[in-house]
Amino acid sequence: MIFRKVAANEKRTKELKNMFMELLEEFEKYAEDLTAKAGKSVIGSGKASSYRRYVLKLLVLSEEYHTNQVNSEDLLDINNRLLEIRQLEGYKQYNISEDRFPNATINCYNQFVETKVPINQEDLIKQNEIDYVLSKSNSIIKDSSIGIYETQLDLPEQKEYITQKYERSIIEATKAKELANWCCEIDNTHSTFLAKSNNKQYMEAHHLIPVSAQKYFNYSIDCSSNIVSLCPNCHRLIHFANDAEKIELLQKLYKKRESFFSDFEVPIDQDRLFSYYSIL
Ligand SMILES: [Zn+2]
Ligand SMILES: [Zn+2]
Repeated sequence: MIFRKVAANEKRTKELKNMFMELLEEFEKYAEDLTAKAGKSVIGSGKASSYRRYVLKLLVLSEEYHTNQVNSEDLLDINNRLLEIRQLEGYKQYNISEDRFPNATINCYNQFVETKVPINQEDLIKQNEIDYVLSKSNSIIKDSSIGIYETQLDLPEQKEYITQKYERSIIEATKAKELANWCCEIDNTHSTFLAKSNNKQYMEAHHLIPVSAQKYFNYSIDCSSNIVSLCPNCHRLIHFANDAEKIELLQKLYKKRESFFSDFEVPIDQDRLFSYYSIL
């Protein structure tokens, strides 16, 4: 990966600027509010507009690295590219040489996306449906080659098997909640309510290594060992709390999954996990 100074008047920078005009305007507004709230700058100081420029510069670098273009429809594609850049060799030096604007920009954009696509990839409604199906199901057949599960649902009134296919993560999520005994893994006294779907205590599944980080691994992180069962409050906290509060919970969860993480080809230490949450 070549980190170089990207100028605002380069052809591709300008093209991207036009392509993401609206999104970037919204992002700048968000960044302005955020930095003002954090007491780091006053509105109009220009910090937020620097962040906006750095999103473009980083995307130009990402395109040079991948040689494929940014997907203009996909907000998360931009976020994934920014998070990826931070893992690449040479980034640390680049960040310092650019007065740490790249890091500040990536953190801010990551938070911005979270407000727009909260708890993405963890479809709670679908999840609830699967909890129901599995509580009624008499067999689950796994086709690991394509990461899809089939369940056979034996409905008494229909006297026939209905085979349904589900993405692997959703079944694994139910498994994780079952393993946690339908309790919150932060504190098993956190109580919620009985779910209509399966009459168990309602819990939500959270991928400890976020699904967006899958590309750094050669094997699936979509497995129950990487999924934790959380009460809704702890789940929201992990996604939306300030860093200090997030760290407290992540440390607890890291400890619980430490043996799983240490089995990795490149073991995941706590700092690496934090970096997936934009905590540096
Ligand atoms: Zn989550
Ligand atoms: Zn909890």
